[in-house]
Amino acid sequence: MSLEKTDGVVLKTVEWSETSLIVTLFTKDFGKISAIAKGARRLKSPFESALDLLSLSSVVFLKKSGESLDLLTEAKLQRRFRSAQVGLLPLYCGYYAGEVINALTENHEPIAGLMESLCLTLQELDRQANPAWTILDFELQTIQRLGHMPSWRWCVACGEEIETDRQSIAFSPPGGGVLCPNCTPTQRGYLRIDPQTLQILESRAAQLSRSDLAMVLCEPSAPAILAPKVRAELRLVMEQVMMNLSERRLRMLDFLGDLKR
Ligand SMILES: [Zn+2]
Repeated sequence: MSLEKTDGVVLKTVEWSETSLIVTLFTKDFGKISAIAKGARRLKSPFESALDLLSLSSVVFLKKSGESLDLLTEAKLQRRFRSAQVGLLPLYCGYYAGEVINALTENHEPIAGLMESLCLTLQELDRQANPAWTILDFELQTIQRLGHMPSWRWCVACGEEIETDRQSIAFSPPGGGVLCPNCTPTQRGYLRIDPQTLQILESRAAQLSRSDLAMVLCEPSAPAILAPKVRAELRLVMEQVMMNLSERRLRMLDFLGDLKR
């Protein structure tokens, strides 16, 4: 057991007893942690609002070995997630971002930059009524940091470069990327996607890998000029990719239909 100090974003809380909560946080230095917060449900909680969903807080916890839950001893609020004041869609997008991080990470496995990119995403959501690009960038950034970026240009089955002057290109979410015409008949579970959709995903991913997220998020975005079909396909591809990685239906995806509009 050791006493540790770090910053973390609250991903989930579950009632544990009359007075306590189990809190799941994604932290900067320790990855995801699950800790008991004794007294957190009391009217005069020692943690005050530091354990509200998606709050960024400085925490001190007793790190237990093995499967045991950690013990949270201090939490001080640094930044509150305020998107409820902006609109329902940014609020749901924030919940979705938290659900994604919870689903794709393991306890006590730190991932460089992931907490920072979650924090920047939440900050962006707090000031945007139409967060389509913010969520797309968050998804791409997350899968990149976790080492799961799909192949947008080379066939995942044979390695051939894909010709983009076609009406549609096969993309396999379980296979992790595009398929060339030769390999497509041998595969199952693929989608037929407009080449423009794949081109947007590829260039956005390349941009994110070149710069830090803060810079990309500050760019003026122009989702309005995209054809409705492409906007819908961007969501379809990312939803399938995220569900394949998390091996389950992500609950908040049902609330993000407005991102396609
Ligand atoms: Zn191929």
